[in-house]
Amino acid sequence: MSAADAETRKQQLVEFFHELEDCQKCPLADGRTTVVFGSGDPNADLMFVGEAPGFHEDQQGKPFVGRAGKLLDKLLSEIGLERSNVFIANVLNCRPPGNRDPQPAEIEACEGHLFKQIGLIQPRVICSLGNFSTKLLSGRPDGITKVHGVTQEHEFGGHDVLLFPIFHPAAALYTPRMLEQLRADFARLPDLLEQTRPAGAPVLVAAGDPQDQLDLF
Ligand code: URA
Repeated sequence: MSAADAETRKQQLVEFFHELEDCQKCPLADGRTTVVFGSGDPNADLMFVGEAPGFHEDQQGKPFVGRAGKLLDKLLSEIGLERSNVFIANVLNCRPPGNRDPQPAEIEACEGHLFKQIGLIQPRVICSLGNFSTKLLSGRPDGITKVHGVTQEHEFGGHDVLLFPIFHPAAALYTPRMLEQLRADFARLPDLLEQTRPAGAPVLVAAGDPQDQLDLF
């Protein structure tokens, strides 16, 4: 992709995010502090999709900045990546009260935001973290315990994407066996990126220029 195309993509995301800043599509708007958009490299080959903002994300307006986020950072660093190399988003943009599970009507109101981000970023590999993002992105009812670690081929916005469902880092914080599985699944990511790399494209994810990061707030 040319530098101009990359810049256009970034601008489109920024515009979209500004459109959502005062989103009122569901009642979560009443209790939130901030709409939490995705963040990271707008041209990332690898995207992570979690569930919904928690307390710290709601306060800071960024996804995965609490304990689960620290673990995500650590797992990324173990495979030689950092946040600036990937894009991180959620199924919901607003925090459910008390961190309860997202409700179907909330997912329905918010899912278009996620699909639009995917369509603009065009990642080659998406890791769905846990049940909610896995069910939404796979379009199937199977939960994460059944499908984790098995890739699925999907098309989003006219682009082929390899969906790789894995456990949510928050679940792995308390269950050592899940953490080991998550670590093993992370270790497969470089191969999945290589496997989906178009001829001539740079190896692995392009190292994001820190100045190009979509880190709005
Ligand atoms: N858990 C999520 O699913 N998303 C976040 O942003 C933080 C924790």
